[in-house]
Amino acid sequence: MSDTAVPAEAPSSTPYSLAHEVARRRTFAIISHPDAGKTTLTEKLLLFGGAINLAGQVKAKGERRNTRSDWMKIERDRGISVVTSVMTFEFDGLVFNLLDTPGHEDFSEDTYRTLTAVDSAVMVIDAAKGIEARTRKLFEVCRLRDIPIITFINKMDRESRDTFDLLDEIEKTLALDTTPMTWPVGRGRDFLGTYDVLDGGVRLLEGGGAKTGAAEQISIEELGKRHANLDVAAVKEELELATEACKPFDLEAFREGHLTPVYFGSALRNFGVGDLLQGLGRYAPPPRAQESNLRKIAADEPKMSAFVFKIQANMDPNHRDRIAFARLCSGKLTRGMKAKLVRTGKAMPLSSPQFFFAQDRSVADEAFAGDVVGIPNHGTLRIGDTLTEGEDVTFIGVPSFAPEIVRRVRLGDAMKAKKLKEALQQMSEEGVVQVFRPRDGAPALVGVVGPLQLDVLKARLEAEYQLPVDFEVSEFQLARWISSDDRKKLDTFIANNGSSIADDVDGDPVYLAKNEFYLGYTRDRAEGIVFSEIKDVK
Ligand code: GDP
Repeated sequence: MSDTAVPAEAPSSTPYSLAHEVARRRTFAIISHPDAGKTTLTEKLLLFGGAINLAGQVKAKGERRNTRSDWMKIERDRGISVVTSVMTFEFDGLVFNLLDTPGHEDFSEDTYRTLTAVDSAVMVIDAAKGIEARTRKLFEVCRLRDIPIITFINKMDRESRDTFDLLDEIEKTLALDTTPMTWPVGRGRDFLGTYDVLDGGVRLLEGGGAKTGAAEQISIEELGKRHANLDVAAVKEELELATEACKPFDLEAFREGHLTPVYFGSALRNFGVGDLLQGLGRYAPPPRAQESNLRKIAADEPKMSAFVFKIQANMDPNHRDRIAFARLCSGKLTRGMKAKLVRTGKAMPLSSPQFFFAQDRSVADEAFAGDVVGIPNHGTLRIGDTLTEGEDVTFIGVPSFAPEIVRRVRLGDAMKAKKLKEALQQMSEEGVVQVFRPRDGAPALVGVVGPLQLDVLKARLEAEYQLPVDFEVSEFQLARWISSDDRKKLDTFIANNGSSIADDVDGDPVYLAKNEFYLGYTRDRAEGIVFSEIKDVK
């Protein structure tokens, strides 16, 4: 295996050919439990590239927030990050697109959707805590799509759990093989650095010039000389045991999502971050082929195609602008090109796509498969949309998740019902909430994963549409998408359950249930009907 996956080739008409541009891209996200160190690691990764750019926003704690519009106040007041952003940096000839995700679990739907736009993920684990609830949940979402995972065990400068224990926990709770690429020497206060399992040297926490992966390494014997208290024999024994007990790294198993390479470090001390970045460059896959309704689209196909995985409103409070974040799946996007929005069949000029390339917004004139561009629009684009220059494909796999909270929207002013309907349609197309319209004509229901989503909805309806609303508890608590191979069976089920059926934003039927018991009861009797918690994952 070569050091990097980038093919060496002569420049063609553009600086590099499409295949080369695609091969040098790594589009990834970081998954972790709050407090494990995602923000700190992100900052350190960006330092390597030198380029910090802000699509949407980085989780800045401070002045940068004062340009935000009203509903962002919620975020400001509570000190949480609601918005997903994209950060691009270059390192070692590679282009890294880091798709940030909201830290707060109430916005996990956003995170799930963002994970459909990456080719790999870094799983950050707190060395003292191991696998935590949210890490596990996000890992499961990655597994749905076989996204390869690189593990970074963080906070090694603090008291941590036994290394074998941590690896064992990953293997058992996630059913994922592990291969340590580095191994900690000492722990907690006695943590000295990491042993490079492939090269056999030790990189020191102190004075090791941790910034680059190629920082100085010394042998264990040398380490012993420098640290008289170090039990060299014990360290060697542990390393031997580790090499014997662990599976060798297997690129294919990693790329298929069965094995995770593990790096140890401290984001705060900027230690081990270089190893991690090098690992991402060497092993993480370049843009993958994307599944569509017709066929798989390879990233280096010449025709541009992209799908929208995120919509962000109010980046500029003075304009009602909405930025649709689209992940390029194939080809090259150039400013001014026209693409077809497959859902409507209409051409859409990409006159001012925003590239989050290099230092700031709106820089480059072209982007390639694997990149994320922001497309300003006034509500034309919605989540899951496909834009293409080629054939009419629709990318699949941008999922919706059954809401955990369902509420009925109560509008103070009945005259504004039509306006509310439009507003809710827009909000659901943006992915702020899910909207369910009961077929019996009852007022709309909204579904969310976390209660803060309701706060955002309320604030935005008020600020942008002058619609004061409240939410009341509905008789329904659960929503499931229903489908059947047998159209007749589905029609009969819908006819028989009239008042419990609603349409989602796309007009797909949803069954609403009072509680788990009712759901189970109905499901047991509805032969041939599939009740799903997730919509549109292949
Ligand atoms: P996030 O919630 O996952 O984004 O976590 P943050 O990056 O905000 O980190 C949470 C806390 O852990 C902060 O106080 C960080 O300074 C601290 N932290 C992050 N990485 C390390 C580390 O490697 N070592 C130590 N000792 N603290 C860390």
